[in-house]
Amino acid sequence: MTTQAYRIDDQAIRSLANNVVAAPVLSTEKRSNLVAEVKKLILEKNAVLVAHYYTSSDMQMLAEESGGYVSDSLDMARFGNSHSASTIVVAGVKFMGETAKILNPEKTVLMPSLDAECSLDLSCPVDAFSDFCDQHPERTVVVYANTSAQVKARADWVVTSSIAVNVIKHLHQRGEKIIWGPDRYLGDYIQKQTNADMLLWQGSCIVHDEFKAKGIARLRQKYPDAAVLVHPESPREVIMQADVVGSTTALINAVSKMDNKTFIVATDNGIFYKMRQLAGNKRFIEAPTNGIGATCNSCAHCPWMEMNGLEALAETLKTGCNEITVDEKIRIKALRSVQRMIDFNPS
Ligand code: SF4
Repeated sequence: MTTQAYRIDDQAIRSLANNVVAAPVLSTEKRSNLVAEVKKLILEKNAVLVAHYYTSSDMQMLAEESGGYVSDSLDMARFGNSHSASTIVVAGVKFMGETAKILNPEKTVLMPSLDAECSLDLSCPVDAFSDFCDQHPERTVVVYANTSAQVKARADWVVTSSIAVNVIKHLHQRGEKIIWGPDRYLGDYIQKQTNADMLLWQGSCIVHDEFKAKGIARLRQKYPDAAVLVHPESPREVIMQADVVGSTTALINAVSKMDNKTFIVATDNGIFYKMRQLAGNKRFIEAPTNGIGATCNSCAHCPWMEMNGLEALAETLKTGCNEITVDEKIRIKALRSVQRMIDFNPS
């Protein structure tokens, strides 16, 4: 077994994150007018709104109340695919809009902002990643869903955090060696779970990178009955503190299934909207992001997710601006690796 790493410099990405302009805070009156307007536009335009768990409570509430869906990136795209609407509006970040378009080429895919990036996607430019893959032609290329359509097209497999371990285990059992990108912590976690031979691209999520293991340990002392829920995009020491490590959907399910009354949660705090909906009698505490090494670019909330505001959403629906397009040759190649994930059966 070998695990090697390919390093990238992520300072430029962090400074981009620092300069993101969040959606404006609205007066109560303006907010309720916009909510009503968006609901009307969704009907008029034969559209459906799909929102990620990390978007604001307004986006998630609107998706649910207008017949849309709130979920992780893969289920967002699946839902759009099965829905009869001719337009899918994706409240999330750009790679999610692209995944929706890869799976739904005949539909119009819109987003409140095309500038809503993801540090993992940004950390994995297709030319550099392809060069890396070309240096190891004997390896199977597996990429996380948080990548551009071009990178998905270069890959053999696309995975989400919910099935990443099972897919790599399956490939490892077939004797395949892996190139994994772009999240170094998720890659490290998968490697430990599967013992697979993996070369890791060195991207990271600016939100999960900020969680601090020592702060979580201190919180555990204060709340000894709390369960610690950790998304595997977090650093290894943070994962080691976890009672449950899992995808956004797995962490949400854990708060319903577990008997604990208190949860310390190491993922984007947008997830609390859904957790409180499912277990309103329980207590949710944000995992600490302060301490040594903290830069607070994110402080447990993704700045790019924060770009999904009501004004931008209404404008997108009204004008059709911010349409996602994917070159057809790229789309067909990317669809092959996305489809492998959808068809994957761990048994
Ligand atoms: S929370 Fe992290 S992984 Fe998710 S979109 Fe933001 S930067 Fe990307």
